[in-house]
Amino acid sequence: MDTIAHWVDGATTQLNSTRTAAVYNPASGQQSAEVLLASADDVAHAVGSAKAAFESWGQSSLTARTKVLFAFRELVNANADAIAELITDEHGKVLSDARGEVQRGLEVIEFACGIPQLLKGDYSDQASSGVDVFSFREPLGVVAGITPFNFPAMVPMWMHPVAIACGNTFVLKPSERDPSPSQLVARLWQQAGLPDGVFTVVNGDREAVDALLDSPDVAAVSFVGSTPIARYIHERASASGKRVQALGGAKNHAIVMPDADPSFAAEHLAAAAFGSAGERCMAISAAVAVGEAGDAVMKEVVAKAHAVAVGPGRRDGSEMGPVITSASRDRIVDLIGRGADQGAQLAVDGRGLVVDGHEGGFWVGPTVLDRVTTGMDVYTEEIFGPVLSVLRADTVDEAIAIINANPYGNGTAIFTSSGETARRFQRGVHVGMIGINVPIPVPMAYYSFGGWKDSLFGDKHVHGPEGVSFYTRAKVITSRWPHVEMPSGASYHFPTTT
Ligand code: NAD
Repeated sequence: MDTIAHWVDGATTQLNSTRTAAVYNPASGQQSAEVLLASADDVAHAVGSAKAAFESWGQSSLTARTKVLFAFRELVNANADAIAELITDEHGKVLSDARGEVQRGLEVIEFACGIPQLLKGDYSDQASSGVDVFSFREPLGVVAGITPFNFPAMVPMWMHPVAIACGNTFVLKPSERDPSPSQLVARLWQQAGLPDGVFTVVNGDREAVDALLDSPDVAAVSFVGSTPIARYIHERASASGKRVQALGGAKNHAIVMPDADPSFAAEHLAAAAFGSAGERCMAISAAVAVGEAGDAVMKEVVAKAHAVAVGPGRRDGSEMGPVITSASRDRIVDLIGRGADQGAQLAVDGRGLVVDGHEGGFWVGPTVLDRVTTGMDVYTEEIFGPVLSVLRADTVDEAIAIINANPYGNGTAIFTSSGETARRFQRGVHVGMIGINVPIPVPMAYYSFGGWKDSLFGDKHVHGPEGVSFYTRAKVITSRWPHVEMPSGASYHFPTTT
């Protein structure tokens, strides 16, 4: 049985960890490895190493940092297939999807390669007579990232390339369910020339997380995961004086208008609901069909759901893999049953799916529930599985009101051929990321990613310009170089410009 350890000071180490958790291959249901769970002392040691590394990395030149980032970009690109295979084996998503995840992470690295441009400050010559004002941004120190199981490579890459490019050192606490990709990424950073201690990985559970949240040597915490934990992280890390961005869960709606092409909408709805077994924070889990769009789109979505090729992620032709754990499967199956009991029409039932040769895997097939209402458990809970709930509305305003009444505000989309309706929607919804005929509107790396309401605690989104802002703090310098002809200008009233 392989033991997945930590990465501290540029080497694999067990530190003094004694506790472990099982890591599974969700397609077989078999345990594939065990991962060490760091104690509070282990975390203190890892943070100490990152703190020591900051002494020099925080002073490194933009040229030196950019050189490492470009090399890292090349190495991640060259190893994309290897990273994707590790993702598929521990997460379960199909290989093409895992490759797509690596590609979206790579785009953040490419964004971070432009750090000299991103960190340029402002300069105001002669702001007052003989006085110049200028600003620049400095790194924070040691920053931590705590990440979820569903994107074991991409979500950490939303954080560490930007944080490190800004001159910080980074401690990653990845999900204990699929920790292996982070170990490979750590080696790639080292091969790229990153000094030891600048990128650290501690594996663990709540004990490790709490140690990071409470550490006086951690300046900022980036978190992505479920809403209850995001709220907890935000409160606890804020209480210890840290800068925090905590991205939470989601319930993403797509409105389908009667003027949309039903085939186009159904095809994209199915891909957005069932891709990655619905385990995406930007998955569409609720479709709101307006007027006569309902019956037309249901007919096509049901056909698409039946046609999805469910199978192990490494099998050619698989379009959807298993869910992450047996507990997750049981929870999803229970919610589907509750939906039917509470009056939804179970149009496609994915419970009880068996995949030949992989009978022990954690399978749930694509599921479609029609005539879901906002009081049902399938609507109020984030299912995080391949389940599409279809609600009906009479008007676009009613559909927008449903979205706005939901506590989450991560992503949303509309299918329509009317520019006026699209504009009404984009201005009316209280959601951070919006798609117009684009069901999964994940912003490009040079924009920032983040939701509203219970989908984000803290005020900065990740990567893009807000990521650079989150991982740095500003200095504004007001300077004067007195010379003999210059009047001293000193006075006892508050300084004003002349
Ligand atoms: P999770 O909240 O269970 O775990 C996330 C991280 O928190 C993991 O590293 C885990 O070890 C840690 N953690 C878990 N319980 C903890 C506790 N009690 N105390 C301290 N730390 C704890 O989330 P998950 O199941 O790994 O991921 C799925 C969730 O993440 C979904 O809710 C999904 O919507 C959300 N997500 C959100 C985004 C986004 O951008 N908003 C992106 C991806 C995933």
